[in-house]
Amino acid sequence: MKWFQIRKKIGKESAKKEIPDGLWIKCTSCDEILYKKEVEKNLMVCSKCNFHFRVNSAFYKKLLLDEGSFTSFDENIQTADPLQFKGYVKKIEAARKESSLSEAVITGEAKIDGRDVEVAIMDFSFIGGSMGSVVGERVRRAIERASKQSLPLLTVNASGGARMHEGIFSLMQMAKTATALNKLKTPYISILTNPTTAGVLASYASLGDILIAEPGALIGFAGPRVIKQTIKKELPDGFQRAEFLLEHGLIDMIVSRKNLKDTIISLLSHLC
Ligand SMILES: [Zn+2]
Repeated sequence: MKWFQIRKKIGKESAKKEIPDGLWIKCTSCDEILYKKEVEKNLMVCSKCNFHFRVNSAFYKKLLLDEGSFTSFDENIQTADPLQFKGYVKKIEAARKESSLSEAVITGEAKIDGRDVEVAIMDFSFIGGSMGSVVGERVRRAIERASKQSLPLLTVNASGGARMHEGIFSLMQMAKTATALNKLKTPYISILTNPTTAGVLASYASLGDILIAEPGALIGFAGPRVIKQTIKKELPDGFQRAEFLLEHGLIDMIVSRKNLKDTIISLLSHLC
């Protein structure tokens, strides 16, 4: 690590040029240069400041679900592009290619420590984890499957909110998913990762019986900048971060990634 300390002194810009691609990553929170393999071993968490790097749905699938137990549903649902929004179809195609996903959420059945669960895992890399008609419909069906089969429901959320390309049709998904949850009698655990915001937070993500956030996750409806400009006041430190929300009673617990699966297993065994 010595040469990095020297590099740091020389200046961040010159250090950046010397970092071999793919071997090292810089912590977004504390600026520490970290050996990528070590970070991966640490579940994509900074060993220095506990910053949780954003990870995709495949990561959470591997982290939380029993190996090989996941069966995906509703992969064939596609958007009808209801507003004929210019460039939207191409955007979807590009997102599919880049993420190898068919949409911003994967849903299906799986096992967690041998127990059957219905799951919905969002993926921020697919158009910012935005909720359009496909995400809403997949989540609704997952909720209804949980209802029908008396299974607990687990969602892992990461979203910038409703998908503007579908206008009112994406906002309708909020009511649709909330209505389906209203009928659910089995336990529902919702995990809020960084970021869980706007329409997704204001519907199914915040309606869990238990709300778990990852450390430092941004969780809110409107973004802090919009709120600041509207109320014309400085916002308190840590506003809309998981720790602030826990202190103010909006979420139930903050759980580090390494303890996430054990916490869910323990909660399910108490709730089911
Ligand atoms: Zn860090």
